Amino acid sequence: MRKLIAGNWKMNGFVSSQAEIEALKGLTGSAACDIVVCPPFTLIDRAVERARESHLVIGAQDCHAQACGAHTGDVSAEMLADAGVRYIILGHSERRMSYGEDNDIVLAKAIAAHRAGLIAIICVGETRHERDEGRAIEVVGDQLSGSIPQGANSANLVIAYEPVWAIGTGLVPTSEQIEEVHSAIRRLLEERMGRDGSLVKILYGGSVKASNAPAIFGLSNVNGALVGGASLKASEFAGIISAAG
Ligand code: PGA
Repeated sequence: MRKLIAGNWKMNGFVSSQAEIEALKGLTGSAACDIVVCPPFTLIDRAVERARESHLVIGAQDCHAQACGAHTGDVSAEMLADAGVRYIILGHSERRMSYGEDNDIVLAKAIAAHRAGLIAIICVGETRHERDEGRAIEVVGDQLSGSIPQGANSANLVIAYEPVWAIGTGLVPTSEQIEEVHSAIRRLLEERMGRDGSLVKILYGGSVKASNAPAIFGLSNVNGALVGGASLKASEFAGIISAAG
């Protein structure tokens, strides 16, 4: 399966960071994987403009569940689609934790993303405590069953497995741990969607960098990566992209 590498810039980037987009654009022509960059809202319009005429695709990091209305400070999936966005990261652990986004909220946002014709990247992952209790698979399974909308398919859904304890910490699960969770996710997707479930991309996320990407991409059911810190530097992100294909 063609891999997908998605960069999550989080709350980073000023207009001057657009040089990164320019640098990445150059890589997409020859890359053997799909490349998405998700900058903050303020940069989306410019990033879409810059990425035009290239294979670089622009995504967003969140959306509101409603299409429009009295929601101060929020941005809808329809607005993002209008701005040229194609993917939305939903249910990232930072949002689940900082904003109390539970599975119902993530589900509502994923429905909104699909209503707007966008691809939802739904993030799931256990905390250190949950892993230590031996509940990683159960937690990820609950998050998946609670947040994937009816009608989701391999064309509008991507799953990102991001163990919370591996995000921004430099810690990476063992190959066995990654494969165990990814294969559990695959089983759940197949149970839910039948054969199409085998085509849904499952990304790994959490301290991915150019040096560990080749090993991670060699694991079964790993179809790409959701990259935080290492996506902020075009040269490091380029290393991850080349490991993908
Ligand atoms: P990281 O973040 O690559 O900086 O660990 C990953 C993420 O939060 O998506």
